[in-house]
Amino acid sequence: MGKVKGFYVELEAAGISFEMDFSIKEKTSFKTGGKVDCYLTAKDMEELEAAVKSALKWKKELFIMGNLTNVLVSDGRIRKVFVELKGVFEDIKAVGKTSVYAGAGVKNSVMLGWLMKRSLGGLEFMAGIPGKLGGAVYMNAGAYGKGIGSYITKIYFMDKEGKCGVIENGKEAFSYRHSVFQDNGLIITGIEMKLKPRPAAEIRNEMAAIIKLRHSKHPWKAYCAGSFFKNDKNYTAGKLIEEAGLKGMSCGKAEVSTMHANFLINKGGAKFKDVVELADKVKKAVYKKFRIRLEEEVKYIM
Ligand SMILES: Cc1cc2nc3c(=O)[nH]c(=O)nc-3n(C[C@H](O)[C@H](O)[C@H](O)COP(=O)(O)OP(=O)(O)OC[C@H]3O[C@@H](n4cnc5c(N)ncnc54)[C@H](O)[C@@H]3O)c2cc1C
Repeated sequence: MGKVKGFYVELEAAGISFEMDFSIKEKTSFKTGGKVDCYLTAKDMEELEAAVKSALKWKKELFIMGNLTNVLVSDGRIRKVFVELKGVFEDIKAVGKTSVYAGAGVKNSVMLGWLMKRSLGGLEFMAGIPGKLGGAVYMNAGAYGKGIGSYITKIYFMDKEGKCGVIENGKEAFSYRHSVFQDNGLIITGIEMKLKPRPAAEIRNEMAAIIKLRHSKHPWKAYCAGSFFKNDKNYTAGKLIEEAGLKGMSCGKAEVSTMHANFLINKGGAKFKDVVELADKVKKAVYKKFRIRLEEEVKYIM
């Protein structure tokens, strides 16, 4: 059986829903991206295991997606299978009084609402960060000096052969906008977090204040992936870019936001190459002025 056909035959046999030659652009927050070989949804561990094993057998590269809010996807053909985690991966369950299990496919906003209703605090700083928990864990998403990793006690994963495992004492897996998952290629399937009791009204007020602040500082309605470059203990990328006089600089329809210099935005119709070119120009100009090399936080998917 042909390399391509065999993979899809096995997906079908496993009852996995998939689409071939899927145009990914509309699913990304940056609104770039061409056709991917395949987009599939895994609804439970059996489906994920079947997809992982078939991919290994037929040499197909999997890309595990969250909500595609931290990626810049190439406009060309992308020889990858995009996997979205749904069904059981969207479950949230209490584990004792202050701990919770959540699947990697749970949206951050849904998680925060669930915690607020149960008067569990800690993750308020995540208010307004789009995406799903798998993506948040992979990126150690956060704000105001905090990251989700500090609240995680266990991380459940599946490896490239379809075997499951758990990382205990999850905190050690994280640093600033980094987790071990960026290096080890494991699929995050779920997490356990420890929260603190806090009155729901306090949680609600803090999250509302954070969202108000974010909306006043960030171009949150623009097509983008949030902060484009990483900060450092000695500088914030936005300040360097602003001081280099780059706000408003553009390449095609990609622009350095005039509202927040660390947001590269798609003004509508920007191509992947426009954003990459703009990012390169920003890096060169910042290096020329400050001798500092900015590093992308956003992941390029080609
Ligand atoms: C307007 C805006 C504001 C933002 N503000 C912030 C902010 O304040 N702080 C911040 O940290 N980020 C911010 N971001 C960036 C982004 O929202 C976060 O990084 C988010 O956590 C990404 O989650 P996602 O589900 O969209 O992941 P995706 O973009 O889909 O994926 C990101 C990476 O995670 C990997 N991944 C996703 N799920 C899994 C999984 N289950 N197993 C293994 N790998 C996986 C993907 O393969 C990919 O490499 C912002 C983005 C936008 C658009």
